[in-house]
Amino acid sequence: MSLMFSAILRALPLRCQLCHHRLDQHQYPWCKSCHANLPRPPRCLHCGLPTPYEMESCGRCLTSPPLWNRLSCVSSYTFPYDKLLHRFKYQGHYWLAPSLAKLLATEIDQPAPVLLPVPMHWQRHWRRGFNHSNVLARHLARQLQVQYEPNVLKRDRATRQQQGLNRQSRLSNLNNAFSIKGVMPEHVALVDDIVTTGTTLNQLCRLLRGHGVKHIDVYCVCRTPPPAD
Ligand SMILES: [Zn+2]
Ligand SMILES: [Zn+2]
Repeated sequence: MSLMFSAILRALPLRCQLCHHRLDQHQYPWCKSCHANLPRPPRCLHCGLPTPYEMESCGRCLTSPPLWNRLSCVSSYTFPYDKLLHRFKYQGHYWLAPSLAKLLATEIDQPAPVLLPVPMHWQRHWRRGFNHSNVLARHLARQLQVQYEPNVLKRDRATRQQQGLNRQSRLSNLNNAFSIKGVMPEHVALVDDIVTTGTTLNQLCRLLRGHGVKHIDVYCVCRTPPPAD
């Protein structure tokens, strides 16, 4: 965040994004009572999807388990998180990153010692102006007081957006799209803003496991159910 922008932000009265009550800086983006009233469905601790009650592994995970160990998220991709993430990702409101990281940090019990942002190809990075996963992971690492490693995973090939592709196309779209650099610790966490199908994450998990990583967590702001194939 630029110094000038921080100064402007400090000078402006902050408002809760939901009820418009005045806030202090630490509460942004919404006040405690609005936050307490947002829906928090129980989830499967493995895939992170909503379940009737909290469980270690849902039926879907027992049939085809994701290659990560545990997923922590704040919400489904629904109001008001969808609006917030849209502003963060597509409207360049990168100053929302500390608030998003703070919301996510409260969901994580025993943080991985190293956070790896899901890599973006340089062309997309260049078009968008910033890599949202990098920014989010950097702030999250600060909140959790762990290491942030933005250069370990690399996207070597520009891939089409995964959204809208069927399962087979998603897999071939990602074949050999990523590479890894350096010696890996046994426990890491992958960080992204939204997890939908999990295909990209599974591909990264395969790569990390091949490099000796034993335990992989996933930290994301929103976890949405995958579309039906
Ligand atoms: Zn409020
Ligand atoms: Zn599950």
